[in-house]
Amino acid sequence: MQHYHYIFTGSGLSALMTVYEMILSGKFTDKTILLLDENPKKSNDRTWCFWDNKPSKFDKIISKKWNVALFADENFKRNLDLNPYNYNMIRGLDFYNMVFDLISKQDNIHFVNQKVTSFEELGNHCIVKTETENYTCNKIFNSIYNPEIVKNQTKYPLLSQHFIGWFIKSKEEVFDKNIASFMDFSVEQRGNTRFMYVLPTSSTEALIEYTLFSEDLLSKEEYENEIQDYIKKLGISDYEIVEKEQGNIPMTSFKFWKHNTQNIINIGSAGGWTKASTGFTFKNTTKKAKQLVRYLSQNTSRALSATDFRKFHKVDKFWFYDLLFLDVLSRRNDLGSKVFSSLFQKGNPTLIFKFLDEETSFWEDLQVIWKCPKRLFVKALFRRIL
Ligand SMILES: Cc1cc2nc3c(=O)[nH]c(=O)nc-3n(C[C@H](O)[C@H](O)[C@H](O)COP(=O)(O)OP(=O)(O)OC[C@H]3O[C@@H](n4cnc5c(N)ncnc54)[C@H](O)[C@@H]3O)c2cc1C
Repeated sequence: MQHYHYIFTGSGLSALMTVYEMILSGKFTDKTILLLDENPKKSNDRTWCFWDNKPSKFDKIISKKWNVALFADENFKRNLDLNPYNYNMIRGLDFYNMVFDLISKQDNIHFVNQKVTSFEELGNHCIVKTETENYTCNKIFNSIYNPEIVKNQTKYPLLSQHFIGWFIKSKEEVFDKNIASFMDFSVEQRGNTRFMYVLPTSSTEALIEYTLFSEDLLSKEEYENEIQDYIKKLGISDYEIVEKEQGNIPMTSFKFWKHNTQNIINIGSAGGWTKASTGFTFKNTTKKAKQLVRYLSQNTSRALSATDFRKFHKVDKFWFYDLLFLDVLSRRNDLGSKVFSSLFQKGNPTLIFKFLDEETSFWEDLQVIWKCPKRLFVKALFRRIL
């Protein structure tokens, strides 16, 4: 049985970002690393967007940037000036190619296209089983999300950010390529939090996603009928669908990290790296991957057993804010549009993005939170305290 120092079960965003940081740090050249994934990661299976106000190592693969974002509901529209932020788009495939290109130059890192069937810690080492082979290792980084562990508890509500998106090319020039529609709540809410998300890349091309923050998924037809209606409303009569994507991202304050052991850490959505109140994961993952590699680096000169993954995660005030937000949204899913509108109608967009990036001071937190409907949140706070 082949032994590795580190095995990544799942090699998507969080695993590749972590390995990328490990390579850049230069501190892991004497460690053997295996990346396992059931998918060869050679297709454009998702598009990531994130806001940023600093140059980053991903700048060269950003395919589109916007500095204005539209927020709308049935009563108002507001173009948010994002300055000093940009809203950036990265195609999944460009990210996979960039990281795998670097990995291919490292003798100590291997990628194997196999489906993981189980993994466990056995004293001082771990075992990973795939459909065709078994491996042992010192440490596992797991990003295979197991929804059952969240569903089998009631302490923390679980919503999903679920959507279907179509990349379309229209004959009519209807899009403003400088404005991303961040949240358009003017669609019927039907007792949920439902909105359109539109990312135009030219006057005739855009990704249009029908998105819900809610508990239950819809049938494929329901998402697609809404997209068709919206396209009609935009004044488009002739278009082709260039690509489709879909997603179901967990939104929960469940303490995934409590399932970490000395030698197995859950990363990505499986590790609670998804921002619970929005479903955004990309930006958080860039930060967490860096922190994790820094944490590992402290012990690279000592035995690998010196690194205890149970001590990696720290809970902060933002975890609690997200918890209250999800308490509100899961009890009153029909009021999501109202809550987001109260934030975006008058709020300072720069401050909101800083808050969502978990970089605000307590005073700044209050300025954002104050905009939310107070009764709902005070009630949620008392319910949690009591
Ligand atoms: C279509 C889509 C669009 C998104 N857009 C955004 C966005 O704009 N901004 C944002 O911040 N977030 C976005 N997200 C959310 C989040 O960023 C992604 O889901 C991100 O990929 C999560 O990273 P991860 O490492 O947790 O999971 P993944 O990237 O999904 O990686 C997990 C990997 O595990 C593999 N795997 C699963 N089971 C097994 C198994 N049994 N054996 C071997 N391998 C296995 C999968 O093939 C996958 O490669 C989007 C998600 C989707 C699906």
